[in-house]
Amino acid sequence: MDAIIVGGGIGGLATAAFLQQQGVRARVFEQAPELRPVGAGIVLAPNAVRLLRRLGVMEALERQALKVRTGWQFRRWQDGRILLEQDMATCESLYGEAAWLVHRADLLGALLPAVDPDTVHLDHQCADIDQSPSGVTVTFANGASAGGEVLVAADGIHSTIRQQLIGQLPARDSGLCAWRAMIPADRLPERFVAPTQTLWLGPGRHLVHYPVSAGRTINVVAFTPAEPGETVESWSAEGKPGDFRAEFAGWDGMVNELLDAVTQVGRWSVLDRTPIERYVHDRVVLLGDAAHPMLPFFAQGAGQAIEDAATLAACLEQAGDISTALGAYDQVRVPRTAQVQEASHDRAQVNHLPDGPEQQARDRAFAGEDPLRHSDWLYSYDAQREARQAVRAELLRAP
Ligand SMILES: Cc1cc2nc3c(=O)[nH]c(=O)nc-3n(C[C@H](O)[C@H](O)[C@H](O)COP(=O)(O)OP(=O)(O)OC[C@H]3O[C@@H](n4cnc5c(N)ncnc54)[C@H](O)[C@@H]3O)c2cc1C
Repeated sequence: MDAIIVGGGIGGLATAAFLQQQGVRARVFEQAPELRPVGAGIVLAPNAVRLLRRLGVMEALERQALKVRTGWQFRRWQDGRILLEQDMATCESLYGEAAWLVHRADLLGALLPAVDPDTVHLDHQCADIDQSPSGVTVTFANGASAGGEVLVAADGIHSTIRQQLIGQLPARDSGLCAWRAMIPADRLPERFVAPTQTLWLGPGRHLVHYPVSAGRTINVVAFTPAEPGETVESWSAEGKPGDFRAEFAGWDGMVNELLDAVTQVGRWSVLDRTPIERYVHDRVVLLGDAAHPMLPFFAQGAGQAIEDAATLAACLEQAGDISTALGAYDQVRVPRTAQVQEASHDRAQVNHLPDGPEQQARDRAFAGEDPLRHSDWLYSYDAQREARQAVRAELLRAP
């Protein structure tokens, strides 16, 4: 089988790596003229890590990533009081893998050696696709074209392939904008380098920080109310460090200390999409953010793209024919990713409660919570096992 993958981000490279691991001819076409180390922090949870380990990329990644040790820490905006501290010591015994703090560039750097370099084509921007009953042809803006039996659309949140197939995705106004900064760790006190994912919760906004790249850099991401009508949704949009600090004026000194060290910050509006009903359109498969862009509050954007990639490869391996494999992919990925999309949507509300009785009840509930066990549905999931079961069910359904 010959698979064409449009998009050389995490989803596209992971798909190529999983397919090539099982001997499928898979080619990646990426619009960027070079693979630059773009992006910032990403949290990889056990559901993604177990797949990356089977792919053989964890050894390289572990040299740069940090294992979450002291846990997730939730703090109150005003005084830094710890509302919840998840002990992560049990993560590996519960789920077989830890959670890791990763720079997106380090993850791409670990995936790349798992893909045959001759199969990655840069400077190829997909301009059009054309399907026939036996395959798909992609035309690129540079005039080249490529054909295959399956086309994987891993072209991200603004996917042109998705746009061509189903038009605009229904959106819900999140009312939020995101801020992102990377701070060299030597500009901050040692305590910011602890391998902890710290979440500061306050009225209408929250802020998260954790170290990445073997502790050399502190990743900061925050969510605050957006300006009315704000719609720029780009990882490269710039904000002003002074405006970022002003959003958190009056917060605990530790937050001020962190934001005082910010010299460059990204800022973009956060758009929320409702789940769609199917990802497979004949021979075209939507994958990663092209299929299910989600709010980042469950830190599962990259993880779900990796699950998609592993699922697609396992379905193709198990099924023996393309239409059964793609049918199984849809059966298994649509409900799974919709659940994560909806869970991420609901989280914004809980994180941003104004001070008052509801916030006090939330904080009291934190004291008795064990998010690690509550997230069993998310972390214990084995995408490859589910894929094989879905293929068996699909074959039983076949006439
Ligand atoms: C520049 C950038 C920085 C990011 N930084 C972070 C971050 O710091 N933290 C975080 O959690 N998530 C980040 N993300 C998002 C995160 O990588 C994704 O949510 C997740 O990994 C899903 O990956 P994906 O492969 O589906 O999409 P993406 O990672 O967005 O990859 C899509 C790829 O498709 C390419 N592409 C798009 N259109 C075309 C086309 N027409 N033809 C050919 N190629 C095309 C893009 O150039 C890109 O390389 C970032 C994404 C990007 C693009």
